[in-house]
Amino acid sequence: MDAERSGARVAVVGGGWSGIAAAWNLHRAGARPVLFDEQPVLGGRSAAAPLGSREVTLGGKNIGRTHLLFREFVRAQGIPESAFEHFGINSSRVEDGRVRTVDTTSKAASLYGLLRGVPPRDLVRLLRLARYTRRARANRFLAGPDFQRLADRTGDPSLAAYFGKRLRDRLIRPALIRMNGAEPDEAYLGNFGTNLGMLLDGFDQLPGGFTPLLTAFSAAVETRGGTRVTGLRVAEGRVTGLFTTTGEGAGAEEREESADAVVVALPAPAAAALVAPHHAGLAERLREVRYFPVSVVIAAYDRPVFDERVRALTFPPESPLSNAGAYGVSDRHLVRYTFSGRAARDLPADEEYLIGLAEKELGAHLDLGSVRRTGLVCARWEHGLCAYSRFHSRTLAEIDAAVAALDGLALTGDYVRGAAIEACFRGAYERTDALLAALTSRSGRGQLP
Ligand SMILES: Cc1cc2nc3c(=O)[nH]c(=O)nc-3n(C[C@H](O)[C@H](O)[C@H](O)COP(=O)(O)OP(=O)(O)OC[C@H]3O[C@@H](n4cnc5c(N)ncnc54)[C@H](O)[C@@H]3O)c2cc1C
Repeated sequence: MDAERSGARVAVVGGGWSGIAAAWNLHRAGARPVLFDEQPVLGGRSAAAPLGSREVTLGGKNIGRTHLLFREFVRAQGIPESAFEHFGINSSRVEDGRVRTVDTTSKAASLYGLLRGVPPRDLVRLLRLARYTRRARANRFLAGPDFQRLADRTGDPSLAAYFGKRLRDRLIRPALIRMNGAEPDEAYLGNFGTNLGMLLDGFDQLPGGFTPLLTAFSAAVETRGGTRVTGLRVAEGRVTGLFTTTGEGAGAEEREESADAVVVALPAPAAAALVAPHHAGLAERLREVRYFPVSVVIAAYDRPVFDERVRALTFPPESPLSNAGAYGVSDRHLVRYTFSGRAARDLPADEEYLIGLAEKELGAHLDLGSVRRTGLVCARWEHGLCAYSRFHSRTLAEIDAAVAALDGLALTGDYVRGAAIEACFRGAYERTDALLAALTSRSGRGQLP
């Protein structure tokens, strides 16, 4: 860490991608960020978990070809672009008991199979929205200008109301369930650019996981793991620091930390809990943002379960298992099972129960009788997948207006520009740029205090 830095001391709450991006942006602008996370390791929903002798990522791990801010961050930590392994989209769906494959290496044939029989009205609508995302990059993120106008013009209908059943079942639902945990009647047209952005992208991953990246980041930026932020310190409308707790029970230690500003980089419900004592209206707006639970199990087997052609399966709405896929192109013996969507919401977070259910569902389509399971790791997030809100750009504008009432506070998270890792970076950079500008003008000297 650079002890010579003299810029503003900014406390960042949350060590997931939103907080990491916020702290990185502040650091490279010359400020002194300190990052707090209640977990001992960084990464939040992308944190590493042990599986046998290796680490795996149970949450977000696929990086789009268009994830430019994230890739720039990776390079800045000394990890070359060549470290990425192409993952592609290879997904087969179970439809009427048959397995149908979409593969980005045979795009035309896959697309034909996917869109065959979709009514012309829906095709025209889909193409128009896809054109928006190509016309302006901002349309791939929340509050993109064309999607905002469309929401205002149409009354922001649900995607179930806007698209017919065939397109919904084949394309819209699998994308929503994966990214937002929402069913088509729970997601809105004005936010659909974020899903189209994902559908039109190609994907890579870092086969070595995120640990080398996070280690390099922690060497540059001060981080405090295992430290829960319990409150904001606010005096006369200005945020002046925070209250923290480390340890548990009799050994718990409470502290007060001073800061020139605080960035809250948490999922909206956790951010609401922190701001509620100081701004009830802001907390209320944050609680309007919807999240859905998701459980993920990664199982190791003694042999590849998937072949080269079929690397992932998506399941129909009545199945609590939404998706099962090979962990990586060269990790086809590791299977990642995802449970999201309506049928999965009340499942117990019990790994034996979940793996039993998952293997039964997958075993109906692939031969699991000849492989032996050798390991297992599981996670469940109650606020796992962000599904935003209806007229979400209005919700965001109201959040911004409320935040402005508390000097020295910035909020960021997956509800600001979208749930993709790149969107977390975009939101965090935008919000911390604005915070830095405010701190600079507060100092009255045209430079950071
Ligand atoms: C199963 C799953 C698969 C996904 N797949 C992909 C993918 O392939 N590609 C992609 O781009 N995106 C993916 N995503 C989305 C992406 O992973 C998330 O949107 C992103 O990780 C969210 O980061 P965040 O920093 O906003 O929140 P989080 O990662 O939730 O970080 C918040 C952090 O705050 C900490 N915290 C909470 N409260 C406190 C407190 N009071 N004090 C201190 N610390 C606190 C938590 O411990 C946590 O580390 C996926 C998400 C999930 C769940």
